[in-house]
Amino acid sequence: MTNEAWGEIRQNLLSAVGKNNYVNWIEPLELAGLEGGVATFFVPTNFMGNWVSRNFGDMIQRVLSNAGQNVSRVEFSVPNEPKPAERKKTNGVAAPASRPAAAAISDDLPGAPLDSRFTFDSFVVGKPNELAHAAARRVAEGGSVTFNPLFLYGGVGLGKTHLMHAIAWELKNRSPELRVVYLSAEQFMYRFVQALRDKDMIAFKQLFRSVDVLMIDDVQFIAGKDATQEEFFHTFNALVDQNRQIIVSSDRAPTEIDGIEDRIVSRLQSGLVVDLHPTNYELRLGILQQKVEQFSQQFPNLEIRDGVLEFLAHRISTNVRVLEGALMRLFAFGSLVGREITMELTQDCLADVIRHSDRKITVEEIQRKVSEHYNIRLSDLIGPKRVRTFARPRQVAMYLSKQLTSRSLPEIGRRFGGRDHTTVMHGVRKIEELMQKDSQIADDLEMLRRALEA
Ligand code: ADP
Ligand code: MG
Repeated sequence: MTNEAWGEIRQNLLSAVGKNNYVNWIEPLELAGLEGGVATFFVPTNFMGNWVSRNFGDMIQRVLSNAGQNVSRVEFSVPNEPKPAERKKTNGVAAPASRPAAAAISDDLPGAPLDSRFTFDSFVVGKPNELAHAAARRVAEGGSVTFNPLFLYGGVGLGKTHLMHAIAWELKNRSPELRVVYLSAEQFMYRFVQALRDKDMIAFKQLFRSVDVLMIDDVQFIAGKDATQEEFFHTFNALVDQNRQIIVSSDRAPTEIDGIEDRIVSRLQSGLVVDLHPTNYELRLGILQQKVEQFSQQFPNLEIRDGVLEFLAHRISTNVRVLEGALMRLFAFGSLVGREITMELTQDCLADVIRHSDRKITVEEIQRKVSEHYNIRLSDLIGPKRVRTFARPRQVAMYLSKQLTSRSLPEIGRRFGGRDHTTVMHGVRKIEELMQKDSQIADDLEMLRRALEA
């Protein structure tokens, strides 16, 4: 199929997506190739690729199929993307169309492609992830292996995969000859099963034992899969014996993964174990600011009002992936309607995400949690006493009530023993101020918020 043929076919999308979407997202797509059931389109930026893929990917696949093309998947790729590891050997050729954003992994290596966006440059460091980041940096320097394995763990969307890819990019950049292999535990199992089926175990073993750096993402996946564990264990030992670096990630600590043999758990723990903590407000804001900078290149005319990012950093505290998605949507929406991104637009556009993070939390719940946290009586939290031991927790509770519920200041005041709305406002401001300079308060708030939203 040619790009001209696509030009015809895409017209069928016009009525389905509407004129605006069509002009903004469909017309700029350039068909790069169609191979093995995969249609690849060139897009000007990764942002656009992601957006189109999420919102129109299925539709595009369908119109292509309806037009008689054998397409089971559509992919989007930025031609000539500037990747750290590929910068050196740029020869003006677009990335292979069938493998968008794929790393320069030689074909005999069993790794998965690396995401060109996941580099150290684009990783925002804050208190919750500074240790993990420092450890990753250290491993990425190469040189003699000091801790083996590096075990990274933390909840979903906190940057484990990002850090692993960043290590891989950095290592490849420094030493292009290194055989760096990154893959998920699931892919490891898949390869293993395939080798068993093809009676090709020797080749499998040789392959995995020949790498310099092995990264296995989401290792919790092999829990309960005994044969895969066994093979992983042998691979692991063989590599450690040869002093090759291993990096493993998981959604929980080694000892907390049920269904993994003890000897593997102890192996996993034998190097350095670091965790990525849930994000705090400052980190979320930092990440948003960084993303805005990236997006602004794509949408140079889009202004974002003061306070919007702070609002998002407050309200969306689940994980970075959700945060990113929200911002992306906001920019896409803003650019479609050609308007400045205001607080109002934000609330309209992200109602579902925002509501989701503060659903059904009540002022009473907040008061209960806060008094438990500070170990004071509920009656003292709400009552008239003004000593610091009660007043500070009271302000914390007021602040959280303002942040996490939709109650107005007077309504909150009424629930705090009939206080005036100016008292509530003062309390909220006080906490905002303290959060900037007192990390204890900031941590308390983060913990309380998490407990409430859980
Ligand atoms: P995990 O593997 O822990 O589930 P990912 O590494 O896939 O999480 O991260 C989810 C998304 O959030 C990715 O797009 C990633 O780039 C982004 N992200 C996570 N942490 C950070 C950070 N500290 N700075 C910038 N982006 C981040
Ligand atoms: Mg991951």
